[in-house]
Amino acid sequence: TQELLIKSDKLSAVGQLAAGVAHEIRNPLTALKGFLQLLKTNNAKEKYYIEIMQNELKRIEFIVNEFLFVSKPQATHFATQTLDSIVTSTIELLQPQALLGNIQIEAELVPNLPPVSCDEHQLKQVFINIMKNALEAMQQGGTMRIQAHLDNNPNYITIRFIDQGCGIAPERLPKLGEPFYSTKEKGTGLGLMVCYRIIEAHGGFMEIRSKLEEGTTVEITLPSAKYTHEWER
Ligand code: ADP
Ligand code: MG
Repeated sequence: TQELLIKSDKLSAVGQLAAGVAHEIRNPLTALKGFLQLLKTNNAKEKYYIEIMQNELKRIEFIVNEFLFVSKPQATHFATQTLDSIVTSTIELLQPQALLGNIQIEAELVPNLPPVSCDEHQLKQVFINIMKNALEAMQQGGTMRIQAHLDNNPNYITIRFIDQGCGIAPERLPKLGEPFYSTKEKGTGLGLMVCYRIIEAHGGFMEIRSKLEEGTTVEITLPSAKYTHEWER
């Protein structure tokens, strides 16, 4: 669709610029962090200032790393893999944050789903970004569901992340995935952009449906490994 095309254009334009800038920022950043660590003081105020500087540098580093991830031509290592192991390890990773937020994570994965051809680390990054958004949206707690099953088209596997969070207003839906679009005080607005990019590189699709005050569903459709391999031939 046209919306999808526009999104990819934005990604590549931003990506090219970002690659250079993000990379150049990293070296001076390392130097700053290093020298800051060498500063020793007993003055409480100065200690406080140093701490602020360290936190702000961490923030720059976080943004730059997230940016490099989207902009660098990624060395992707595709392997045949089942989704449930990736989903399970992602859940383990986010369990502490879920517990803190009074959120239960329920996974309903149809057993023996055909494997997909994927870069495990990249796909895990996608699942982490989506689940983090879900947890962050559920300020009142609740249940987050993950469902995986064979698509209507049996060459594809569908995985859904369903939250009971604040939801997204319809007029804001088209903005999702745009670089720097964030409604969070500490957000980067890069998470979904990374997701779109990785899923696209896997020959898949990502769709977001949402209802204000009710919740959001992110649906990812990925080709099965068998289908990807047929396609490559
Ligand atoms: P960030 O999380 O840093 O803000 P993202 O790209 O991950 O950036 O998300 C962009 C925006 O999309 C968020 O700021 C939020 O407004 C909205 N969003 C994404 N996922 C959800 C969700 N599950 N529920 C509600 N809003 C969401
Ligand atoms: Mg996010």
